[in-house]
Amino acid sequence: MPIRLLSEEVASQIAAGEVVERPASVVKELVENALDAGARNITVTVEGGGRNLVRVADDGCGIPAGEAELAFARHATSKLASADDLYRVQTLGFRGEALASIASVSRVSLITRATDEAVGTQMRLEAGTITQNASIGAPQGTVISVENLFFNTPARLKFLKSETAERSHISALVQRYAIAYPLVRFKLTFDNRTAFQSSGSGDVREVLAAVYGVEIARQLIEINNDYNVPPPAQSPADDDEDDPLLREKRATQYAIRNTIRVSGFISPPSLNRSNRKDITLFVNGRWVQDARLMAAVLQAYHTMLMVGRFPLVVILLTLPPEDVDVNVHPTKAEVRFRNYDGAFTAIERTVRKALTERAPVPHFEARRWTFDPEERRSPQWSPDWGMLAKPEIPNPNLQTPITNYQSPASSASLPPNALAPTAQPELPATDVPLLRVIGQIGAAYIVAEGPDGLYLIDQHAAHERVLYEAFSLQRAAAQIVSQALLEPVAVEVTPAAAALLQSQMETLNHIGFSIEPFGGSTFLVRSLPTVLGSVDPSSAVRVVVEDFEEDETVLETEIEARLMARVCKRAAVKAGQVLALVEQAELVRRLEQCVNPRTCPHGRPTMIHLSVEALEKQFGRRG
Ligand code: ADP
Ligand code: MG
Repeated sequence: MPIRLLSEEVASQIAAGEVVERPASVVKELVENALDAGARNITVTVEGGGRNLVRVADDGCGIPAGEAELAFARHATSKLASADDLYRVQTLGFRGEALASIASVSRVSLITRATDEAVGTQMRLEAGTITQNASIGAPQGTVISVENLFFNTPARLKFLKSETAERSHISALVQRYAIAYPLVRFKLTFDNRTAFQSSGSGDVREVLAAVYGVEIARQLIEINNDYNVPPPAQSPADDDEDDPLLREKRATQYAIRNTIRVSGFISPPSLNRSNRKDITLFVNGRWVQDARLMAAVLQAYHTMLMVGRFPLVVILLTLPPEDVDVNVHPTKAEVRFRNYDGAFTAIERTVRKALTERAPVPHFEARRWTFDPEERRSPQWSPDWGMLAKPEIPNPNLQTPITNYQSPASSASLPPNALAPTAQPELPATDVPLLRVIGQIGAAYIVAEGPDGLYLIDQHAAHERVLYEAFSLQRAAAQIVSQALLEPVAVEVTPAAAALLQSQMETLNHIGFSIEPFGGSTFLVRSLPTVLGSVDPSSAVRVVVEDFEEDETVLETEIEARLMARVCKRAAVKAGQVLALVEQAELVRRLEQCVNPRTCPHGRPTMIHLSVEALEKQFGRRG
């Protein structure tokens, strides 16, 4: 075929495809416009999963009558004046593409009245062409209705998922924005049923309760930190300016420019998910998908969560607009940072600190035992031993947003301060109080008494943690002590495992092993890290290669940490091993000294706590 210019129609549909992928993209663009217009109330109405109708009504500044037509032209925006502005974008929109794109693949109607105008405008467009433009009486603000999305692009229509799937995308989006903009009142309806609502009171925890449920919202830990990015090598500190006043001024300017605010809410390790969907990141008020920032969050939870488990996190990052490039992709969901490491570290440090200082020891859930014989027969008749046996609290809201919607009425009926930040239970510091060991039960758990009740410690998990931290400490100081075996031990593994072991050998030798190939699939172990004590050398080596799952971690330090965790697991005392009282006491004493005594390196809890208060409830001494 010869080269020719695409028709206007085809070109605009291609461009539209970049912005409008699905109904949720329409909602996103319209909600962002409403936020940019300074709206305090945003109502999103959806019918037929967004194929039939998406309507967003706001009470923002409105569009002046003289500009309404222009608003639908491609690259028409009121948010940028010059190319320079592109490097300090303060609004969510700036490309002037959304309305044009949406209009070209649907039937749009607009009703708007600008703040200082007496009459409003009504406009209709069909596949991008204006079919009606008239004056009309209207309240201040803007209502944009998008009907029959993709009616003129059947191919696109075919790619849409089920109505349920589209609805859950839309509700996830509206809920995220409601969390990030707690002063704006959001309302979302699906086919005339309210699916989500926020009050606009400014209380984020209240919005979180509407999104995730009251119980989860109560457990989330609030974070708020101004992180000062350390100056790079060439810094104002070695500024050669002679005038000390000027030098100080520059340093202050530097500090202001390089402060990254990290705020939001994070889950304690005990509250976790099987996927990353509930890790939400906002950068300067914009919801972004960013793998590296996500990695910073996961790094902060490292060893506190089991492999394959993810936290529930909402983080709002605020930094000078000129340090973020938002003009990366038409959907604006990707950003670039002038200083990526700064943003990474700001998140990682803030979250880690909050976790180590404030994440609670899992509590025994006080549950009243009744003497109903029916219940006695049911499997429920057993004390609910808190964390160990308890599945995670499911999050019905996001998966099936409509049916399981937690209506605002239910949160309104809570005791008045149930959602207030003070309602968060007084969390014990992370470190474990000094404990008095009472004894061992089931050859698996150590019973200990603390100032505030009873602690049950999982001996295996606790020992894993103790070994792991001892190991990490030595590693950090680059002083891993290894112990030569009296006689080298030959270990034979499967050929597949041999390849793996070969590839991990260097790392293993880094962490105190001394292993060398001995022909075929056999390896010779000459020494082991001393921390492991009297572990069987061949099983310590085998554990490294047994069911080693491939995963996305590529960082050398992470592989090392993972190997150390595995080896510690193998070396730790097992459930079923009877321990002498002195051994129990020694284990507990060493656990008390750990930095993260509450979980094993794989994220399982090492202990559960039964407070005196909970005991009193159980015995009916208290209401
Ligand atoms: P952008 O948001 O990138 O500027 P859009 O195509 O989304 O581009 O919108 C074009 C223009 O229409 C905006 O710059 C704004 O001036 C106006 N506009 C769109 N939606 C609204 C709204 N809800 N309230 C007020 N003005 C709006
Ligand atoms: Mg826009």
